This record gives sequence, structure tokens and C-alpha cells, in this order.
Amino acid sequence: MKSQVLSAILLTVALAIACLGQKADGNQTDKKSEATAQAGKAGPARPAATGYMDTPLIPGTKWHIHDDTRPRPAVITPGMNPGDPPSDAVVLFSGKESDIAQSWEDQKGQPTKWKVVEGAMECVPKSGYIRTKQEFGDVQLHIEFACPTPPGGNSQGRGNSGVFFSDGNFEVQVLDSYENKSYADGQCGALYGQHPPLVNACRKPGEWQTYDIVYHMPRFEGGKLAKPATATVFHNGVLLHEKRELMGPTGHKKIGSYAPIGKGSLQLQDHGNPVRYRNIWVRELEQYENSPTQLDKQ
Ligand code: MG
Repeated sequence: MKSQVLSAILLTVALAIACLGQKADGNQTDKKSEATAQAGKAGPARPAATGYMDTPLIPGTKWHIHDDTRPRPAVITPGMNPGDPPSDAVVLFSGKESDIAQSWEDQKGQPTKWKVVEGAMECVPKSGYIRTKQEFGDVQLHIEFACPTPPGGNSQGRGNSGVFFSDGNFEVQVLDSYENKSYADGQCGALYGQHPPLVNACRKPGEWQTYDIVYHMPRFEGGKLAKPATATVFHNGVLLHEKRELMGPTGHKKIGSYAPIGKGSLQLQDHGNPVRYRNIWVRELEQYENSPTQLDKQ
């Protein structure tokens, strides 16, 4: 008898707990419905925040640390392989005859005599420098070159050419400096006549070599130099110069004086040697967020 009474009590308690549970669920369902209704009134749900707005300002900018309203960088597609042009590059030479007529001319604005040989653009001695038809300011440039083989001449007479920025004002030297002694500020990778490269990273004549160069043109204020041109140069992936300042236009036995210049052509030098070039592309450099912050101006 006692056990029957105990079972009845336990059953009653279990039923009571079950009822309470149902009531609690009902409350939750009510709250969910209410929230859904509220959301419906407010319009479509906003995407979840990915950053923060309650963090300190980054000094010199108007942005908070991890600011969710700071513009995201443009999306580009990088090249498939190292050295391939990314989607936002201007391709100046990809191996086609038509690239020369489309993007290059001689220094008088006439068709150049440089020619395409085995998919490379080859300097024709005595035909003169070539320059891009398009003008550029601050750039990232990728260019590949091969010095003639078998090599001929010595010092500055062996595999000499050059990559020039700002309408021929500043030369990054191209020279066959593989087991070929010449003055330091004129060997391959030198900012000619001013800064020798940090190392000699030359490959043998005939072998393809790469330059990856970041060039910033000089800035002028009121006709006076405010900021000299700078160059960062990688040769075959090896750093030769890091944002190195140019003292003035480069030259043979002289350093030129700065005079106000704007955007200009890129040029390749005819120094009398049939140096070859291929895979040439350039990207014009933009400011962060495409608008200078205070820090960018410094
Ligand atoms: Mg040269």
C-alpha cells in the first residue's frame, strides 16, 4: 500500500514538471516570434559586422583600429606563376610583334627599329632608345632581360643597356656583370653613377634575369624639390636597393640637377649591344584608399 502511494506521488510530480517545461518552451517561442516580427519591421537583416568602431583612432588617420568602414583594397587576380602580370597591370611586351607597335616608339615618336627575336624584344644597335607611348608616375615594374651570348667586349661595353624612368632621367643599369669587372656605380643593378647595388646577383650571359622595381617619381612644391625620386630594386629576386634616393638625374661622369618633372615614359637604352627583353609589365601605384592620409603625405 505504501509503495502504491509513493508511485502516485512520483507520477504527480513528473506530470507537474512536464507542464512547467511546456510553459517555458511556450515563452521562448513567443519571444522568438516577437523578435521575428520586430526584425520584419526593421527591414532586411544587416550583415554581421566584421570589425570594430569602439577602438582607438590610428594616429594620423581618421580610422579606428580594425575600423569596419575603412575601404577594403581593390580585388585583383595575381599572375598564375611568379613573374606573370596581375590583372591590374599594363602589359608592355608579352612576346608579340604587335606589342612593340602598340606600346613603344623611338625617341622621336616614330616606330622603333627594335625587333622581336625568339619571343623577345631585342635592341638593334644604333637604332636609339625606345620609350613607352604611355606616361607613368609611381610604378611597380617587372622586366626580364638577357645579355648577349657569347659575350663581347668588357666593362661597360659588355651587355650594356638600361631601364629608365621619368623620360630618361633615372637609369637602373643593365650590364653583363657576370665575371666582368667595371666601376661599382655602373655595374648591373646600379642606380647609374650614384649607388652601386648591394650585391652582384648576375646570371651568365644569355640566361634570363628579372628586375622588379618600385619607382617613386620626385615631388616638387613651388618649383623646388620637395622629395627626391626613389628606387627599390630586386634583381633575380635579390634586393639591390631599398627606397634609395636619387641625388638627381643619372648620367655618365655627372649627376644632374633636379628640375620639375611630371609623369613620363619608361625607356630602354640602346648602348650598342643587342640586349633582349621580355615579359614587361607595369602597375601604376595608388595611395592607400586612393586618397592620401596624413601619414601617406609624410
Ligand atoms: Mg646602361
